[in-house]
Amino acid sequence: MICAAGFAAGDENPRTAKKAYILFHMEQEQKTPASQTLGAFTCNICGEHNVSSADASEREQVTCAKCRSTIRFRSILLTLSRALFGLDLKLSEFPILKSVRGLGFSDSDVYSGRLENCFSYTNTFYHREPRFDLSRPDEKEFGRYDFVICSDVLEHVPEPVERAFLSLSSLLKPTGILILTVPYSLEPETIEHYPDLAESGFAEIDGQTVLVGRLRNGEYRVLDQLQFHGGTGSTLERRLFSDRSVRLGLAAAGFSTVRLDATGSREFGVAFSSPCSLPISAGRDSFALSASGVTELVREIAAARKESAILGLIRSSRWLRLGRALGFGPALPPPSLQR
Ligand SMILES: [Zn+2]
Repeated sequence: MICAAGFAAGDENPRTAKKAYILFHMEQEQKTPASQTLGAFTCNICGEHNVSSADASEREQVTCAKCRSTIRFRSILLTLSRALFGLDLKLSEFPILKSVRGLGFSDSDVYSGRLENCFSYTNTFYHREPRFDLSRPDEKEFGRYDFVICSDVLEHVPEPVERAFLSLSSLLKPTGILILTVPYSLEPETIEHYPDLAESGFAEIDGQTVLVGRLRNGEYRVLDQLQFHGGTGSTLERRLFSDRSVRLGLAAAGFSTVRLDATGSREFGVAFSSPCSLPISAGRDSFALSASGVTELVREIAAARKESAILGLIRSSRWLRLGRALGFGPALPPPSLQR
């Protein structure tokens, strides 16, 4: 099953996707200009209240004055919250669930430390410890993770990119969830910038970084005018995905449920001005907390009940909301019966 919130982005037909794109812009044009800016929002990462005049199309612009989060960072945490809990929780409201294992690939330290506090989460890197190379995954890690965050990484990995999609799928438990962001267009196909390279490495010539590649026919070539994102090395942009090829890549790797989240959250400063590069959650099955995760959550709910002297506090407790969202929790009398 492939589904999408807001757009017909789950449709395999690129013409339909383009139609959705056009409709989206027609709807946007009918809104006031103010709706294109973030405006007032509460950062779901640090809790800071912000008022921003930044445009919703600037997914990489720092828009939280306190933690310096961007729309992309906040969208990752929002998508994770919706995937794990079915609720829009701020990171400070996440329950402490150390039985839940998470893995990140070069996640920003704006939120990685906070995830370490909530879960058994490890952030990994291509160039430094703890290392993880999606092209050469450590098979001992397969099947161990409840969630994996892969944000703006797949456009940098060497070909074949299908190998990276498979690694992401293999790392997850059967009920685990992938949180994915990657720049993509609505073009029919992915544009590979270096399709003929069998192998490649970087070299410095007169202070300029160039790519030295061996072609499939054995010849060598030096390429300049490279596009890097935030540095050099593994941050070389190797491709611009199409939305269709992202969805096909996920499906081929075994992800049967793919959700492109176009709705965002104005409350949390997560807005999108186009149906491109939306945050994605993908799984082979619906996400489910393990038995030990459920036990941890029930303990948190029980502790909240015990510590709360006033029943109303319990009623508004985030743990109770979580328990109910997940199908369990204490039964409370209706407000009319309270003394
Ligand atoms: Zn913040």
